[in-house]
Amino acid sequence: MGVTRRVVIVGAGFGGLSAARALAGPDVEVEVVDRRNHHLFQPLLYQVATAGLEPSDIAYAVRGIVRKERGVRFTAADIVGADLDARVLHTAGGRDIPYDTLVLAAGARTADFGITGVAEHAFGLKSLNDAMAIRQHMLEQFERCAVRPELVDDGALSIVVVGGGPTGIEMAGAMSELFTRVMRADFPELDLTRAQVELVEMAPEPLGPFHPKLRKHAVDQLERRGVTMHLGRSVKEVTDDGVLLDDGTFLSAATCVWAAGVEAEPLGRMLGLETGKAGRIVVDGSLRVPDRPNVFVIGDLAAATDKKGELLPQLAPVAMQQGRHVAKVMDAVAEGRKPPVFRYTDKGSMATIGRGAAVAQVPGGIRFGGTLAWLAWLVLHIYFLIGFRNRISVLVNWAWNYLTWDRAARVVHGVVAPQGRGDGAPEARDDGAPQGRGDGAPEAPHDASERAAG
Ligand SMILES: Cc1cc2nc3c(=O)[nH]c(=O)nc-3n(C[C@H](O)[C@H](O)[C@H](O)COP(=O)(O)OP(=O)(O)OC[C@H]3O[C@@H](n4cnc5c(N)ncnc54)[C@H](O)[C@@H]3O)c2cc1C
Repeated sequence: MGVTRRVVIVGAGFGGLSAARALAGPDVEVEVVDRRNHHLFQPLLYQVATAGLEPSDIAYAVRGIVRKERGVRFTAADIVGADLDARVLHTAGGRDIPYDTLVLAAGARTADFGITGVAEHAFGLKSLNDAMAIRQHMLEQFERCAVRPELVDDGALSIVVVGGGPTGIEMAGAMSELFTRVMRADFPELDLTRAQVELVEMAPEPLGPFHPKLRKHAVDQLERRGVTMHLGRSVKEVTDDGVLLDDGTFLSAATCVWAAGVEAEPLGRMLGLETGKAGRIVVDGSLRVPDRPNVFVIGDLAAATDKKGELLPQLAPVAMQQGRHVAKVMDAVAEGRKPPVFRYTDKGSMATIGRGAAVAQVPGGIRFGGTLAWLAWLVLHIYFLIGFRNRISVLVNWAWNYLTWDRAARVVHGVVAPQGRGDGAPEARDDGAPQGRGDGAPEAPHDASERAAG
């Protein structure tokens, strides 16, 4: 029997949970700490926002996951500081958490790039609250317009999605399908041809890391679904009633979804560690902080690089592989071996555009689009979801949506306020539900196109 090592992991996301599972065992005490009590499957957040899935379909209580792992336990706490020399973390609640080895896996948050009005008027898409805030707002806008149809002309139903990475593409495609297939039938009194779904991307094409043919396929598919593309255009300002572009065009829209990028959670700054691009913490080849061999950083928070020195993309597979790597390094150190260097194995990327339409590429030059890519996307996302119940629930919802074109989750929580954003009045709530943008704080610039399903 070896000496018990006390490992504290900050973050129960893809990286943190993968590290906890790889470390679980008889000779280790692992404490997973997260400010939320659930693990969130972020790749399907847009489906919650577009009334396709319920929050509980894509989230799972961390305690339910870790109770199956030997030596692993969970604490709900917000880490607000640390004394790295004394090996102790400080929590918002005042409790200190000691550790022998620390794994920082706190992920990223929405970045506003300093653009005026984003934090106040745009919706991020990083948390369940963000997704629910978009859904509530969008559904309420429809109800308000049914009472005052003249609002439609002022963009009350229009949506501007900023960011042409996979999240932006998925969001725009799903919104457009929701409008044309579901809301049109729900609201026959409204002329939905005047409700626009618009996508703004700074680069000349969306889906940067994908092959040009796949990018073109994505643009064609989105346009066929009625999405208006503003490519090569950047956002100057977001206001209460629309989005101002760099060429002076103003897109009237009561809803702006900000999918333009993320920055690392501010733990690097908080803990006095060296940070690189978008606040990501600098690590060595074995994912440890230089001169702090007992502090690992993984996932979206880490500025880990590949062989060429390029930053690794902020993707779930990167975080999961890095989580497993932590256990390998700890074993190597315990056995007096040289710590192995982390190498990311890229198994491919995909993005979905809507029913029967997706793009996928795998290393070796294999790429495909259309129904086959869409089916592959469905299967992979079901496979990676945590929890049997969630898998079944998502599967049933998707089958139902596919067969009926219906979206079951279009319930407005609370009372529909007569006025909302874009009508010059704040949205009123009676139930403490999230107001305006969700709880994802504004995030710093990041290349959203780095992200793709893997
Ligand atoms: C909308 C969206 C869609 C995406 N789609 C895909 C996709 O299709 N494919 C793909 O590969 N990737 C996708 N990604 C990216 C992927 O989700 C991330 O790369 C991945 O979640 C990173 O894992 P992580 O463990 O580093 O961080 P996360 O999974 O974000 O987990 C971080 C955890 O740390 C917690 N935390 C943060 N700060 C603190 C603190 N101070 N104290 C305590 N807890 C804290 C958070 O609550 C969170 O639970 C998507 C991301 C988004 C936002």
